[in-house]
Amino acid sequence: MGLPTAEKFEAIQLPLMQELIRHHPTYGSVSQHACAQLIHNALADNGWSSSIIDKYTAFELAGEPDYVPVGEFGADYEGDADRTKSNVYGVVDSGTEGPTIILNGHYDVDVVSDPHSWGALGGWKSGLVADGNIFGRGATDMLGGLTSLIAVGSYFAEIKDEWKGRIVLCAVTDEEIGGNGTVQSFRALERLGYLASTDIVGLIAEPTSGIIADESLGFMHMKLVANRKSQHMGTAQRTNNSLYDMIDVITNFDEIAGAAVDSMAGRTDSSLIHNFGIINGGQDAAIPIGEVHSEATIFYPANIAKSGLEKAIDAQLRQRFGSVIAAEFSDFGFRGHKSPDSQFGSILQATSTSESVTRGSFKSPCDARIFSTYGVPDVTIFGPGMLEDAHSIDERIELGLLQNYNQHLVRAISEVLKK
Ligand SMILES: [Zn+2]
Repeated sequence: MGLPTAEKFEAIQLPLMQELIRHHPTYGSVSQHACAQLIHNALADNGWSSSIIDKYTAFELAGEPDYVPVGEFGADYEGDADRTKSNVYGVVDSGTEGPTIILNGHYDVDVVSDPHSWGALGGWKSGLVADGNIFGRGATDMLGGLTSLIAVGSYFAEIKDEWKGRIVLCAVTDEEIGGNGTVQSFRALERLGYLASTDIVGLIAEPTSGIIADESLGFMHMKLVANRKSQHMGTAQRTNNSLYDMIDVITNFDEIAGAAVDSMAGRTDSSLIHNFGIINGGQDAAIPIGEVHSEATIFYPANIAKSGLEKAIDAQLRQRFGSVIAAEFSDFGFRGHKSPDSQFGSILQATSTSESVTRGSFKSPCDARIFSTYGVPDVTIFGPGMLEDAHSIDERIELGLLQNYNQHLVRAISEVLKK
């Protein structure tokens, strides 16, 4: 097979990706709306049957089963439900009855918390191409994957009489904060009639490090408070400074979480991924700390229920620390997802030409669970780039990886939509 999408890569994908990176569409930024417009224009200019910008507020989604109350995640997200957001939906319709493929990609990017650590080439808003890579926040997660979907869809728009069915692109926002953009996209697809058939498969082009994934992880947010009666420094010791209790919890959290999982009925094969990202306490260097606060996020497997896991972790903490440590789990969290026998995953595997591509799990939460809620259980997570590069300093993606992915996706979609 030749390179049907190489031209699309040069003409559409690369310039669009650079522009999106330069707009730096982080949570809550006005540039998100400009990005939606750029994506809409790219679809309109490249033969898509239709493209619409969908403006909405998360307030409208509050009754939906997968709605995530983002406002509860912290001060930066207050008032989230009233902010206007933009999704873009594009359709390439062959005009012949056939399967529907829903391609999902988010255009919001993670925040840059260490701007001074980025190298000159790796400026997070640069979109520079150097040494065969494109640099900038979102290059890997997931403006690369999203623009691949657009380039590939544009290729199929050019040869509409050679296949059957339709390709529906959902370019969504707010994936980085839980997935309300994808919730809104499914409400819209339902309203537009695109979910009426049962012959639908989904693809999310997150950077899966070469893994064709049928599982994504759940996400939970935990707040801990360590509390001891502070005393005069003359009596300072480990047992009256709560910092040491918090150190104890954090140092041993792998074991604590493991014991929690083991205590849940029938759950012996699962491990958790956790990160403590916030810690604070203390006001005076001469006084033992009375109260220390910390916050962690936990990724957990699809076969574990969030409420049961919360109870199990809480019980382990009580058993080990008594009333010194108090845990609180916010409503900001969601379950993982596992597709049974994904048909599209099998086709992606069969059409792969790379030995490094394998089937497995995506070691991160993503929007996959929302597909099954709206009647599309066959959803595969597979996109260009390495998960370790996502959200990283000097984030970049190899142009060659994007090109290979585009070719692979063309082969897989051709197989699903062949006449
Ligand atoms: Zn992502």
